[in-house]
Amino acid sequence: MDFLRPSTWTEALEAKAEVPGALPIAGGTDVMVDLNFDRRRPDALLDLGRVTELSDWAMQDGRVRIGAAVSYARIIDELGTRLPGLAQASRTVGSPQIRNRGTVGGNLGSASPAGDAHPPLLAGGASVEVASVRGVRRVPVGEFFTGPKRSVLAPDELIAAVLVDPASGPQAFSKVGTRNALVIAVCSFALALHPAARRAGTGIGSAAPTPVRAPAAEELLAAELPWDSRAALPDGLAERFGGLVAAAAAPIDDVRGTAPYRRHALAVLARRTLAWTWGEYQCA
Ligand SMILES: Cc1cc2nc3c(=O)[nH]c(=O)nc-3n(C[C@H](O)[C@H](O)[C@H](O)COP(=O)(O)OP(=O)(O)OC[C@H]3O[C@@H](n4cnc5c(N)ncnc54)[C@H](O)[C@@H]3O)c2cc1C
Repeated sequence: MDFLRPSTWTEALEAKAEVPGALPIAGGTDVMVDLNFDRRRPDALLDLGRVTELSDWAMQDGRVRIGAAVSYARIIDELGTRLPGLAQASRTVGSPQIRNRGTVGGNLGSASPAGDAHPPLLAGGASVEVASVRGVRRVPVGEFFTGPKRSVLAPDELIAAVLVDPASGPQAFSKVGTRNALVIAVCSFALALHPAARRAGTGIGSAAPTPVRAPAAEELLAAELPWDSRAALPDGLAERFGGLVAAAAAPIDDVRGTAPYRRHALAVLARRTLAWTWGEYQCA
C-alpha cells in the first residue's frame, strides 16, 4: 500500500486528484480500525497529519471555522464557550486517547449516522467546506450525508473545514449508550436555542440512515416557547416536542437497540435537553 504524505494543503489536493482511490487518514481512529479488521484495503493512504492548514480553528466572517483535523480535545478545551453543544458532544466521544486523536473532519468523513459531532452541527446550522483542485464549495451539513457512511464527497475532494455560527443561546447534547463511556450512541440528540431569532435547531443521531433534523419539532418551539417572558415551559410543550422529535426519526433494530426503544429514548433526550436549555435561558 502506498503512503502519501503531503506537507501542504495544495499538495494534499493534488495527491487526491492524482490518486482518487487514496484513503485520507487524519486521527486514524476509524481508518486504522477498518484496516486492522480488513474491512478496507485501499491502494494508498493519504496522510493529512503534516497539513498544518487543517489543524487550527479561527473566526471567519463571524463564524467559527474549524479545520478538518482539529481534535475533540481542542474543541473541548478551546471552543466550550463559543460552541457549547459541539463541546458537550465531544466530551462524550470515546476515551481521552480517542478525543486526542479523533477529529471532526474524520467524523464527517466516516459519515456514520452515529457520529457524535453531527447532531450539534445540524442544530447549529453548520456548513462543510469541501475542496479539490477544481475549487471550493460549502455544503450545508444537512445535505452532506447521503446514506449510512456515505456523503456528497467526490473522489477527488477533501474536507477542509466546518463552519458554524457561535452559539447565540443555550445549547445541549445528550446521548444514550449501552454503557457510560467508550460507546457508540444508541441514539443522540442536540438542541440549540436562538432566542434573538425566536428559533430552535435540532439534530438527531443514530436513529435514521443519516443524521437528521426534526423540522416540525423546531417549528413547535419557535411558535410556542415564551421567548419574551422567559416563563416556565407551558404545560405539555415538552411532551409534544419529544413526540415530534421521535416522529422525525426513522430508526432500525440493531445490536445496540430496537427501533421502538430508540424512539422512546429520543423523546426523553428531547425533553431533557429542552429543560436544560430553557432553564439556562431563564437564568441568563
Ligand atoms: C475506541 C473508539 C471509540 C470511539 N468512540 C466514538 C464516539 O463515542 N463517538 C463518535 O462519534 N465516534 C467514535 N469513534 C469513531 C472515531 O473516533 C470518530 O469518528 C472520529 O471523529 C474519527 O476521526 P479521525 O480523525 O480519527 O478520522 P480517521 O480515522 O482518520 O478518518 C475517518 C474517515 O474520514 C475520512 N477523512 C478524514 N479526514 C478527512 C478529510 N479532511 N477529508 C476527507 N475525508 C477525510 C477518512 O478517509 C475516513 O474515511 C470511536 C473510535 C474508536 C476506535
